[in-house]
Amino acid sequence: MNLPIADLHCDLLSFLAKVPKADPFDPNQIACAFPWLRAGGVRAQVMAIYTDVHPESMELASQQAAIFVQLLEDHPETVCRWDGAFQQTLEGTDQLGIIASIENAAGIGTATATWKEIYAQFDALLGKVGSLAYISLTHHTENRFGGGNYTEGIGLKEDGKRLLDYLAGKRIPIDLSHTSDLLAEGILTYIDRHHLPIPVLASHSNFRSIWNHKRNLTDEFAQEIIHRGGIIGVNFLRAFLDSEQPERLFEHLIYGSNLNEQAISFGADFFYTQDFPDPSRHPIYFPLAENASKYPGILERLSQELSEGQLRKLAYENVFHFYQNLWS
Ligand SMILES: [Zn+2]
Repeated sequence: MNLPIADLHCDLLSFLAKVPKADPFDPNQIACAFPWLRAGGVRAQVMAIYTDVHPESMELASQQAAIFVQLLEDHPETVCRWDGAFQQTLEGTDQLGIIASIENAAGIGTATATWKEIYAQFDALLGKVGSLAYISLTHHTENRFGGGNYTEGIGLKEDGKRLLDYLAGKRIPIDLSHTSDLLAEGILTYIDRHHLPIPVLASHSNFRSIWNHKRNLTDEFAQEIIHRGGIIGVNFLRAFLDSEQPERLFEHLIYGSNLNEQAISFGADFFYTQDFPDPSRHPIYFPLAENASKYPGILERLSQELSEGQLRKLAYENVFHFYQNLWS
């Protein structure tokens, strides 16, 4: 089933920044290489500026922002900016719309950065990439802003509050995909208490009631996102679906569609896997979702259970609708 696809998360930029001889056009190198994206009908792709918590994270983030701009400059026949105008004229072009996001605010501020440096880095990154699809405060670990997925008992820190204050009103959503439960709670409570205009989403997360994993959303947080008009992008990683049963991907997608058919979307999370250290995590993806060419087959399989209207919402309409609202 061929529908345009809008996907909320891939790690092409960190691959291009870190891997020697990285080629975004080589399908053998990464599952979200441009030929795979094209084959899968992907028309709009969020590209994360990913850094871990490291003294060099701000430099690495700046480097990825520069790579994002370079892609637009060097390959105008392949990519263009994903903005409101792009969404309106999707049919008139066959370029891939791209927008950057920040996955881990360590790229905005390392442990030793002053707030003057943090604000300057934020402004510089945003100035470079033009707009941001979302910001995630953390990744798996803890940083100065809060606790990531695999930390327990670490929520929103004072620096996290200060960064949220700075984000407010800038039309940049906050991403809950890499928060500890306590951080997710802290963010939502802080936004509410201070009436901060900050939209909320989960860019690449599945459902904990389908597969019990710290990377997946509890029903409570999924509902919080839905109530706030946010979207949830389902992740294709084997570890977060069900490490044994590929078909569980469809259960996550159908579960999300049943929770709210206006909120469910894709956030496949394709990244460079050839240096991934933990052998138990290989293969990282099941064959049915192993690269970005697989969306039509996934939609075909889902068409047994979801209507064409629901599939369209999942494929791209919910994501476009969310950003149309945000940008207009
Ligand atoms: Zn991630």
